[in-house]
Amino acid sequence: MKVFNNPRDMQNQAQRWRRSSSGTVGFVPTMGALHEGHLELVRRSRKENKHTVVSIYVNPTQFGPKEDFNQYPRTLEADLKLLKREGVKAVFTPSDQDMYPEGFSVKMEITGPLVNGLCAPHRPGHFNGVVTVVVKLLNLVLPDRLYLGQKDAQQAAILKKTLQDLDTGVETVICPIVREPDGLAMSSRNQRLTPEGRKSAAVLYRALKVGKSIVDLGESDAEKVLVEIRKVVEAERNIKLQYLEAVDADNLQPVIEIKPGTLLALAAYLDNVRLIDNIVV
Ligand code: AMP
Repeated sequence: MKVFNNPRDMQNQAQRWRRSSSGTVGFVPTMGALHEGHLELVRRSRKENKHTVVSIYVNPTQFGPKEDFNQYPRTLEADLKLLKREGVKAVFTPSDQDMYPEGFSVKMEITGPLVNGLCAPHRPGHFNGVVTVVVKLLNLVLPDRLYLGQKDAQQAAILKKTLQDLDTGVETVICPIVREPDGLAMSSRNQRLTPEGRKSAAVLYRALKVGKSIVDLGESDAEKVLVEIRKVVEAERNIKLQYLEAVDADNLQPVIEIKPGTLLALAAYLDNVRLIDNIVV
């Protein structure tokens, strides 16, 4: 397994693959502290492409000043072992200095309906940071396909639209959410929960499933469904909902009437850790 620290080395490798037309390249960008959710993206990419590149980079520009950039778990050695075991041949782990050298002066901005709701108003600048770093990474890795998780549904929708709007020719592949046995969506941030918080966290998916089952029984009034989900979450002490919304899964616009394809999405704080989850009904 080759580990590229330097962006130029990564790009040279990518260009060699391109020139030799030796099959497609799949790319899985991550912030590390890898778990099964990440590894499923890696497996899917390995299945669908000749080459798979995984990046591990905790991107400072997508964290707000009061967010958890410093506390974000960093477990590079364990991550590399996992990727080696998966048969990954190329990992990209750039430094901040290489990604944002002194004088770096580009900031991409997402506008429009995709950033009206969900995480965007609560994390000003977050998605601009995500898009900027992913476009840089794409220019270094030159992939044919980009693998993203449904766990970060808004991020996936925004990146898919960005790749289309910028005519990158890169295909977006969105993979299902991988969960712990009790239903909690896997996340690098779960490591930061206390044992008690970890138990409480399962309520988020339980609540979303209650919402889905009400819809399955015939309720289509979004507000009524959201009220029932909220009740389940709020019955658990120590959890604070940041938002709970019913939106169209493609354009992320709020819906009044729930239809097939509606996304129920939430963010909540627990032990000072911000967790997100969603379900498509
Ligand atoms: P992160 O390291 O949190 O930035 O995530 C890197 C990629 O893995 C993103 O596309 C995430 O959506 C995806 N991902 C993270 N957790 C999960 C999960 N539990 N299931 C599926 N994909 C995930």
